[in-house]
Amino acid sequence: MDITLLEKSKDQTKLSFILKGVDAAYANSLRRYMINKVPTMAIEEVEFRKNSSALYDEVVAHRLGLIPFTTDLKSYNLPSECKCKGAGCAQCQLKITLKAKGPKIVLASQLKSKDPKVEPVYPDTPIVELLKDQELEFVATAVLGVGKDHIKWSPGLVYYRHKPKITINKNSFDEAEDAAKKCPVNVFEFKNNKIAVDNDNLLKCTLCNACVDACKHGEIHVEPEKDTFIFTIESWGQLSCKEIVKESAKVFDKAIEELNEKVKEIKAD
Ligand SMILES: [Zn+2]
Repeated sequence: MDITLLEKSKDQTKLSFILKGVDAAYANSLRRYMINKVPTMAIEEVEFRKNSSALYDEVVAHRLGLIPFTTDLKSYNLPSECKCKGAGCAQCQLKITLKAKGPKIVLASQLKSKDPKVEPVYPDTPIVELLKDQELEFVATAVLGVGKDHIKWSPGLVYYRHKPKITINKNSFDEAEDAAKKCPVNVFEFKNNKIAVDNDNLLKCTLCNACVDACKHGEIHVEPEKDTFIFTIESWGQLSCKEIVKESAKVFDKAIEELNEKVKEIKAD
């Protein structure tokens, strides 16, 4: 397996790389592990003390659940894997409080977290608008969770596509030239009566086959490279893209170990 970095945004919220030497099942497992099994922090319970806003408690609670929080994976355990066995302790729970009185728009920035490492990723997210004398007060509990249980815990969007492989039949330049010009993303370059693949643009190829369809005698051939994938990760902000990839590999490894143990048990029987 080989990984080549393509693009990394400065704010760590977007990353793309080429993964070579794996099959589609492996690439898809990795994608699913990143989306569904990498834990992040989100509000799971809300105890309302006051709520005279126009929104019902459950609507406010739902909105709070969807607020992404920066996540510190080193300091918290999943409740199911915590020493407290899910009863709730400082290693698996964080209290977040809010007290507000109208008139004002209550923003995520007003949430008070006891842990400075766990803060709303987007402080300007509106929670509810309070009119004059309306009040909102609650104690919320944030826990680590995974996207498989609820999408609010998913760390981001992960997708991939095959790397394109383009071959040009050099014997029939004229016909290939017309076909190559049909490419909507300019994958081809034309120099001295020759057509070549522009390597800077090759990865923009979406395998749309516009060039192939325009060929009369199969001058251009486009196919996906079966063992090479272009991965893109867009983080919602709870974790950096690097953390998402690293953590997914860790969780993936653990799942394979568990499977291994189960297989051994079967053999022992
Ligand atoms: Zn605990």
